[in-house]
This record gives sequence, structure tokens and C-alpha cells, in this order.
Amino acid sequence: MSHKFEQGRLLKEFSTFGIGGPARFLFEATSIEEMRSALQWAASENVPYLVVGKGSNTLFDDRGFDGLVIINRINFSTFDENIVDVGAGYSFALLGVQTARRGFEGLEFASGIPGSVGGAVYMNAGASGAQTADCLTSVTYLLPSGEKRVFPRSELTFAYRKSPFQGQDGAIVAARFTLNPAKGAREKQLGIVAYRTRTQPYGDKSCGCVFRNPDGSSAGALIQECGLKGVQVGGAAVSPLHANFIVNSASATAGDVLSLAALVKKTVHEKKGIDLEMELCVIPFSR
Ligand SMILES: Cc1cc2nc3c(=O)[nH]c(=O)nc-3n(C[C@H](O)[C@H](O)[C@H](O)COP(=O)(O)OP(=O)(O)OC[C@H]3O[C@@H](n4cnc5c(N)ncnc54)[C@H](O)[C@@H]3O)c2cc1C
Repeated sequence: MSHKFEQGRLLKEFSTFGIGGPARFLFEATSIEEMRSALQWAASENVPYLVVGKGSNTLFDDRGFDGLVIINRINFSTFDENIVDVGAGYSFALLGVQTARRGFEGLEFASGIPGSVGGAVYMNAGASGAQTADCLTSVTYLLPSGEKRVFPRSELTFAYRKSPFQGQDGAIVAARFTLNPAKGAREKQLGIVAYRTRTQPYGDKSCGCVFRNPDGSSAGALIQECGLKGVQVGGAAVSPLHANFIVNSASATAGDVLSLAALVKKTVHEKKGIDLEMELCVIPFSR
């Protein structure tokens, strides 16, 4: 199956940061079957692999990835009244818009998150007081062996930006959400998008918030209070609009982003006594 893989494709094309060197192998899986065979190939050839959605929370290495990068393009969607089944490659933002338009509440917050459904489940992405796990009913998962499992929500433990899939081998391939009918869903969803486009640097290359919010406070507010808005390292800058965003303002490297993140972390520690924890997924060149 290796003949289907592309070699040397630049990973910057697959991250909203626009950063990342070449992948040794790259494969875009458009079905559960294709995902299964890619996982099985990686296992049989003993090649390290990584499953990526829309790369909106992923910082690739400047040297790329010395293994197989599987881009999840499993894009099906089925809407049956308040129950939605979607492939894990489906746009989470589009899902948020479509469900609200149909008059269901629960995923309005998703309309501002530029990730895939799989990435949202993996990160337990959230905004506006809601998170992915809230209306999730089940997750369909491929184990590294290729075996398919359907995990009901009751068997899965989520927390703030945490899911049981983090650090696990295998791939999220589909999810089911159960929503509630609500008259004001579309207005709420439009309000969320309008607010976010005003307060976050949507036009810039970024991966959203770099740090998790510490208990009881906002990482963005802490970074802003330390006077770090606009601070730059190489081509990376702390966004002047939202201090928890690092933006690729001028051909930044992964090294620039990581040095700037380290500077932010050190400054917040010194001035506020708080250790910020990274939310961004940093992918090393080799595993
Ligand atoms: C402008 C902007 C705004 C954002 N706002 C928010 C926000 O409000 N709230 C929020 O929570 N996040 C936000 N984010 C971050 C990001 O969009 C979310 O974390 C999103 O859920 C990531 O999805 P993705 O498909 O892009 O994941 P990726 O970046 O592709 O992957 C993230 C991690 O998940 C793993 N992964 C992805 N798909 C799978 C899969 N199918 N199976 C197994 N593992 C998988 C990857 O290996 C990686 O470790 C924002 C980002 C941007 C650029």
C-alpha cells in the first residue's frame, strides 16, 4: 500500500499555523476502511504514525515528521432529527452551523472552532461555556490493530481539554451527537461567531489558544497583564488582539513559536507565580 503514500509533502499545508517540514509518508484517508489499512500498514512496517484532522491545534516540527502522517478525511454526515452521525474528518465548525440552522442546540459553540470532529473529540474542544463531550453520545474508534470499537459516552471520561484518547494509538473515525430542539439556536450560534471574530485573530495563521486556562483564571488575561501582547520571536508574535494566541506573522518556524511560548511561560511564572500548561499539540520530528 506504500505506493499510495506521498513522500516529502510539506506539513505546513496541513496546519493552520502554516508551519512544518516534510512528512516521510503522507496519506489522506477518506473512509474507515482506508484509515484501517493505513494503521495496519504502519503496524506491519513498524513505522511511527500520527493521525491529524484539520491541524488547527498542531505545531509540526521544522524538520517534518519521520513517519506516516494520516490526514483524516472521513467526511460523511447523517442527520436524523436530533441525532447526528458524522465522520471524524467532518468540519466541526460546519457541524455547529448546520445543527443550529436545523433548530438544535448543543453545538453552537463549534461554529467558531476550525477543527475536525475527531480533533474536537480528542481535545474535548470547547468555547462559550460548552464543550464537545456535553452532547456526545458515542465515539467510533479504530484500535491500532484495525479493530473497530464503539465507545458509549458513559465509558469515556472527559475533563477541560482532556479526553481518554490523548496519548493513545489508533484513530477516532466517527462520532454521534444527541442534541435538543431549541428555538434560539441559530441566533445564539451567529452571536458566538460574531463575538469571536471581533475578539480573536481569525485572519492570522495560528492554532488558537496556546495555553490552557489555569484553574479560576484566564491564560490570555495573565499574559496580557504581563505586558506580552505584540512581543515577537523571529516570525512569531503574541497576538495584539488576544494574548493567548501566538500568530505566524512572518514565515515563523516551529522554533520561533516554541521560543516565544517559553518566554511567555517564564514571564508569567516570574510575574504571577503561575505555571501555564501548553494546550497546543507539539509534534516532534521522530517518535
Ligand atoms: C482561530 C482558532 C480558534 C480556535 N478556537 C478554539 C476554541 O474556542 N476552543 C477550543 O477548544 N479550541 C480552539 N482552537 C483549537 C482547535 O481548533 C481545536 O483544538 C480543534 O478541536 C482541533 O481539531 P483539529 O482537527 O484541527 O485537530 P488537529 O490539530 O488536527 O489535531 C489535534 C490533536 O488531535 C489528534 N487527532 C486529531 N484527529 C484525530 C483522530 N481522528 N483520531 C485520533 N487523534 C486525532 C492529533 O493527533 C493531535 O494530537 C482554535 C484554533 C484556531 C486556529
